[in-house]
Amino acid sequence: MALSSRLPSSTPIYQSRNPNPSIHRKLFTINCSSDSLKASPFTEKHSIERYQRDSWVYKSQLQQPSCSCQLPSDQDFVRDYDIAMQLPELKKLLEVLREKRRDENGGERKGPGNVFLVGTGPGDPELLTIKALRVIESADLLLYDRLVSNDVLNLVGPNANLLYVGKTAGYHSRTQEEIHELLLSFAEAGANVVRLKGGDPLVFGRGGEEMDFLQQQGIEVKVIPGITAASGIAAELGIPLTHRGVATSVRFLTGHSRKGGTDPLFVAANAADPDSTLVVYMGLSTLPSLASKLMHHGLPDNTPAAAIERGTTPQQRIVFAELKDLADEIATNQLVSPSLIIIGKVVALSPLWPHAMLETSSLVESR
Ligand code: SAH
Repeated sequence: MALSSRLPSSTPIYQSRNPNPSIHRKLFTINCSSDSLKASPFTEKHSIERYQRDSWVYKSQLQQPSCSCQLPSDQDFVRDYDIAMQLPELKKLLEVLREKRRDENGGERKGPGNVFLVGTGPGDPELLTIKALRVIESADLLLYDRLVSNDVLNLVGPNANLLYVGKTAGYHSRTQEEIHELLLSFAEAGANVVRLKGGDPLVFGRGGEEMDFLQQQGIEVKVIPGITAASGIAAELGIPLTHRGVATSVRFLTGHSRKGGTDPLFVAANAADPDSTLVVYMGLSTLPSLASKLMHHGLPDNTPAAAIERGTTPQQRIVFAELKDLADEIATNQLVSPSLIIIGKVVALSPLWPHAMLETSSLVESR
């Protein structure tokens, strides 16, 4: 179907991941129960259960702290608990590794271990590269953050140690400097350290900073690319990010600026190009301002757009809308981070775009 015939104004639509409309309703109900939200691969609360389940430090050499059998019930307390629990244990783990290394080398100093920055893709474990899988399987220690899905963590070998170093907006469980130090200490102790990153480590992943720091300390860093959220999610939705005669370029933007500002004004003027596809990472909170500035700078207000929460995972949720309605639709459907926003004519090429699949509009009502 020609693009133009798919473009007229549409009812915004909400969808779950399964392309079969009859199953949509079922998945939708399941996805919105509070239980399943708690069990999402992206909730912070779940992370503590992850590393307890994986008992990442509780190897035979180590003593289990007495507090480990009780989880804090207060959500706000979880972060403090994370730190209090993990830092002493990390030190112990480091000592064990150093000792092991001394024993192996008869006190001789040996070169540092390896650090791998590994992209794990947007969530679906089948989107991992074979190289990533091989490195994950042979790691001594894996540091992961919030965007690394449980399905991916389930591939980690039973002898590896897993450490959560995630962050949420407004709260950093560990500073970037602490993560740098952790990577360095373990690499110096000779460990094979894997830093798992959601998507691609070099796309809004701070992989460059970690690489820079470690290289300055003489540690070799190998980067294993991952499928960035834009590619994984575009494929999932059947959106060609570029398309001959429709979009001649694609631009990845962040909704947050490093200068501390949350207003993406500085990019909006340049980004308002109807022939370019915009993919906005970390853009939920600043979308209202970005959208109005894009329109102010000439992007048509009926430009097709989509917001996708937890793309490529079983919890995936999609909102389709025209640019002028997107912020409202996101708010109505209460999309939360991690969500990706795609803006551009190419969005209407998705077979899921409302005009190609009107029957799913009943999902909005079923909410
Ligand atoms: N390095 C990552 C991006 C990290 S920045 C990558 O290449 O994909 C974090 C942002 O990425 C999130 O706020 C969100 O905008 C986006 N993101 C990552 N994974 C996502 C997913 N599964 N679904 C939706 N958005 C995702």
